[in-house]
Amino acid sequence: MLSRIDLLTLFPKMAEGFLTESILGRASAHGLLSINIHNLRDWSTDKHHRVDDRPFGGGAGMLLMPEPLFAAIEEIRTPETTTIYLCPDGEPLSTPLARELSEKPHLLLISGHYEGVDQRVRDALVDREISIGDYVLTNGTLPAAVLIDCVARQVPGVLGEEKSLTQDSFNDNFLTFPQFTRPAEFRGMKVPEVLLSGDHAAIERWREEERRRQTRLRRPDLNP
Ligand code: SAM
Repeated sequence: MLSRIDLLTLFPKMAEGFLTESILGRASAHGLLSINIHNLRDWSTDKHHRVDDRPFGGGAGMLLMPEPLFAAIEEIRTPETTTIYLCPDGEPLSTPLARELSEKPHLLLISGHYEGVDQRVRDALVDREISIGDYVLTNGTLPAAVLIDCVARQVPGVLGEEKSLTQDSFNDNFLTFPQFTRPAEFRGMKVPEVLLSGDHAAIERWREEERRRQTRLRRPDLNP
């Protein structure tokens, strides 16, 4: 089971706020998950703490050079580590993939910047390459935070109520169902009668039917 995540980034402050708030912050504080954020510049041997250089062959933009990344990854990883590079051309992040990663003991996440990282880092040190979607962001810190959030909620104990996982969209091939809270009527809009009935079997049936209906309407590709 996952107990430790290390994140290697050029922007530790971007990640800190996100990872110390709310459910993830609580998971860290309660010792369920240790999340450590590292600044890649700490492994630069250059006197100006440079970590990038121009790509061979020319072209716009800079690349993260191999030396600091090799030094950092080799220092942080252990034989139990799964090293992941966040990149647009990686395998798509999904709930099944998050579930699989939540069963690994230790994840080391590499966040790229500029045009990405020297290919030798990917070839020699990275076990998995993961994308958070078919679009390009300026750096990998947000993608890494998205991955951490998505994986952490699969770790037993991180979400207060485990049941909420099974009711989530994408837990199986269906979306979730509509939810309502008090008041039972608001500006003329009424909560479906069945939810007020106290009949738990009928409520479960309604929710299952709604999951199917919502999936057919919004994401027929999930359940062809
Ligand atoms: N030249 C790269 C390409 O076209 O695939 C894009 C590099 S992007 C500007 C800089 C960094 O942001 C990447 O190294 C990666 O770490 C991160 N990144 C950007 N979009 C991402 C996505 N959709 N999923 C995961 N990481 C992403």
